[in-house]
Amino acid sequence: MAAKEKTLEDLFHDTLKDIYFAEKKILTALPKMAKAAHSDQLKAAFEKHHAETEGQVERLEQVFELIDKPARGKTCPAILGLVEEGQEVMKDFKASDAHDAGLLSGAQAVEHYEISRYGTLIAWAEQLGMTDAAKLLKQNLDEEKKTDAALTRLAESSLNQIAA
Ligand code: FE
Ligand code: FE
Ligand code: FE
Repeated sequence: MAAKEKTLEDLFHDTLKDIYFAEKKILTALPKMAKAAHSDQLKAAFEKHHAETEGQVERLEQVFELIDKPARGKTCPAILGLVEEGQEVMKDFKASDAHDAGLLSGAQAVEHYEISRYGTLIAWAEQLGMTDAAKLLKQNLDEEKKTDAALTRLAESSLNQIAA
C-alpha cells in the first residue's frame, strides 16, 4: 500500500508541535534574559512576557485537545538558533552599553518568528473550519504583536535618551 498522502491537517499538527516546542524553549530563555538585562524596563518587559508565555503554552495545549492529539513538541531548529544568538550577544556584550540593544533585537527576532508561525496556523485553522482553535491562536498572536510593539517603543525611547 502506498504511503498515506499528507494533508493540510497534518501540516497544521506539525506546525503546532513546532510552535509548542518554541514556546517552551522561550519559557526557559526569558528568565535568563530578564536577569541579564541592564535596564529595569527591559527586565520588566521580559518578566511580563514570561507570564504571558505560560498562558500561551496552556492555550496551545487546548488546541492539541481540540484536534485530539497529545501535547507534544517537535524540535524547532529556528528557535534554538535564535536563542543561541541571544546567548552570544549576552556573553560578548556583557559589560557594554550596547548589551541591551543586542538583547532586545534578539528578543524581537523571536517575536517575529512567533508572529509568522501564528499567522500561518490561524490561516490554516480557518481554512480547516477550526474556529475555536483559530480563536486561541489569535490570542497568542495578539500578545506576540503587543510584545513586539512594546520592545520597539523601548528601543526607540532608549535611542532617544542617547541622542538627547
Ligand atoms: Fe509566545
Ligand atoms: Fe520552527
Ligand atoms: Fe513571544
